[in-house]
Amino acid sequence: MYPKLVIDLKKLKNNLEAVAKITTDQGNCSLMIVTKGLCADKEMVKLVAGHPTVRYMADSRVKNLESYADFVREQGKKTVLLRLPMPSEIEKVVTYADISFNSEISTIRLLNEEAAKQGKRHKIVLMIDLGDLREGIFFENHELICSTMDEIMKMEHIELYGLGANLTCYGAIIPKKENLSILTGLASEIEQKYDIRLNMISGGNSSSIYLIEKGELPKGINNLRLGEAFLLGNDTAYGQKLPGTTGDAIVLEAQIIELQQKPSLPIGEVGVDAFGQKPYYEDRGIIKRAIIAIGKQDTDTDSMVSLDKKMEILGASSDHLIVDVTNSNTTYKVGDIVRFEIGYGGMLKLATSPYVEKHYLT
Ligand SMILES: *Cc1c(COP(=O)(O)O)cnc(C)c1O
Repeated sequence: MYPKLVIDLKKLKNNLEAVAKITTDQGNCSLMIVTKGLCADKEMVKLVAGHPTVRYMADSRVKNLESYADFVREQGKKTVLLRLPMPSEIEKVVTYADISFNSEISTIRLLNEEAAKQGKRHKIVLMIDLGDLREGIFFENHELICSTMDEIMKMEHIELYGLGANLTCYGAIIPKKENLSILTGLASEIEQKYDIRLNMISGGNSSSIYLIEKGELPKGINNLRLGEAFLLGNDTAYGQKLPGTTGDAIVLEAQIIELQQKPSLPIGEVGVDAFGQKPYYEDRGIIKRAIIAIGKQDTDTDSMVSLDKKMEILGASSDHLIVDVTNSNTTYKVGDIVRFEIGYGGMLKLATSPYVEKHYLT
């Protein structure tokens, strides 16, 4: 059945080895692998949980952690909830996450109460916003950092595991020595003031890994959280391929359902398309147009790249992808399968969609 995500487990393993080497051997950081990009796919989880270098397995959704917590704990890994907990999911957070990322004292209070109920000490990483303006206490707000810390230190069922920061995902701010040094500076201050040792100073996601190669990751950073770098081999700060990785470990296959000669310009008055956009058309005369059975409901069609370099994507609606195959060296017919490389957002949707099958190469 199509569309199909083809997951090459050998290539994924190879990517994992490559990012583990950079992060742990070169960068002296512990490795947290982030599973949300493939929606915590079972085979991928098995592969990651079996790797000796991986210390933590993380996701932004408790439901994904629930699906693999028992299994990965048996393998000696810790589970981590990356998105700040919703007050409505506290019980599951304490049950399935060994560590959760937090920035709100009211939520941490709820975690403390629930951990007491479950007879546990729940570990938290306090998030600091270094300017990307997503989660975390704003780094200049010392008063809030101090009052939050004071209260955390009094909690019996909460262990402050470390500090963390997230960059690039929202504000597109690039991690640098300068902004990450604010995090390591704060960590030292906190360790002195409260006379504690922090286990983890987590310096970001796949956009931070480039700093290791440049020798610019600040000394105190001892953890990175990698999703896209592992799954697609991307350094997401500058869009480079990381050494030793490939971008085709996960490929999309979809099927041609119509192939006809038609004009390149639509006929009639132009309004707006199914998504409210006014389309732009280039007049190429009569062209060979294929319709492929995949659309915006399944993926980000803008980030798809055909492995046939002479096939050009013209556009898409919810369920149809329109491509120009006039210049292709392949003589396509209805029923043929076309393969695409995908971007991070597209992969996320494909892995989540109940309309997309998964196939594994071993
Ligand atoms: C999604 C996420 C990551 C992983 O991001 P990648 O760019 O895929 O490496 C890391 N940390 C947090 C807080 C996240 O939400």
